[in-house]
Amino acid sequence: MVYLDNAATTRTSPAAMDAMAHVMAGDAFANPSSQHDAGDAALRALEEARREVAACLRSRPSEVEWVSCGTEANNQALLTGAAYGAREGRRHIVASAIEHPSVLRMLERLASADGPFGGGFDVTLVRPDETGVVGVASVKEALREDTCLVSLMYANNEVGAIQPVRDVCRMCRKRAILFHTDAVQAAGHVHLDFARDGFDMLSVSAHKFHGPRGVGALLCSKRVAPAPLLLGDGASRVEALRARLVSRLTEAGGVRVLGPQEPSLRLPGIVALALEGVDHESALVLLDEAGVCVSAGSACAAGAVESSHVLAAMGVPSEVARTYLRVSIDATENDECSIDEAADAILQVAERLRGSAR
Ligand code: PLP
Repeated sequence: MVYLDNAATTRTSPAAMDAMAHVMAGDAFANPSSQHDAGDAALRALEEARREVAACLRSRPSEVEWVSCGTEANNQALLTGAAYGAREGRRHIVASAIEHPSVLRMLERLASADGPFGGGFDVTLVRPDETGVVGVASVKEALREDTCLVSLMYANNEVGAIQPVRDVCRMCRKRAILFHTDAVQAAGHVHLDFARDGFDMLSVSAHKFHGPRGVGALLCSKRVAPAPLLLGDGASRVEALRARLVSRLTEAGGVRVLGPQEPSLRLPGIVALALEGVDHESALVLLDEAGVCVSAGSACAAGAVESSHVLAAMGVPSEVARTYLRVSIDATENDECSIDEAADAILQVAERLRGSAR
């Protein structure tokens, strides 16, 4: 057999198979998030792999996001760019007409009225010249005041044409436009230097250069927070944010968490707090003034807070129920900074209200 379809996929190299067998059969098989020795070994193997990928692509290890393939990397890159655009009120995306379907189909989703982040993104597809190269001038012409993202592949999968990604990236940086390049065909064939070229996001897929199927990476520069694609990831992120909030509040004292503590018995994002000696209605007003939006249960017609029938049914005494605040955390909405800000505000408000009650 003469295998000349290496752009579709490559034979897995013995070195890659050895490395995988070593991890799967050895001590590093465990869940890297687990808090035991086997988990630590898996975490070390994962971080070593991250350092190796980063060294090959000249990025920082912290800029390597693991994904399952090039398609997922591209999907996530476009969603990240769209999330940025939606935040900034810029809803125009530029790509080339010769991108891989994993880019083009996602652009169609973003353009549709019911697409992610409110949909309705305007998409301009720039055509290449007759050799398959997209001109820098054509991309420049397509840019608008409201362009949030440019996605241009590093090299094309059908004709092999290398695109002027560095020049286009430089142009985007000057206009605060995010730049993504699909380097799935380029990786392993041309020298990639993520740091030098200043890309915001870059996609690679292992099976295109003798690695295993089911492994890819999206490099995301520290300027960009990748939009989570998988719900499970979001849930563990929410769990971490919740743990951060709860430990800050309980360490300070006078704060209790109601409801189940065991993660398998509760939603990760809902935290029911009881703030000893603090009337929740007054707390809500002060927190709102501090720019922190939480809830104290449902509001009755007059706008006052109704006492919770759920807490009552749980047998929570009414004097405790009157101190109840609900904080609900979301993986895309919240981050460590906003959690810390909320924890500080809750503690300050509690102290102030306890002081005025004395
Ligand atoms: N981008 C380009 C340019 C490709 O050629 C391919 C695969 O052919 C992909 C993305 C998708 O990669 P994967 O097969 O890992 O999903």
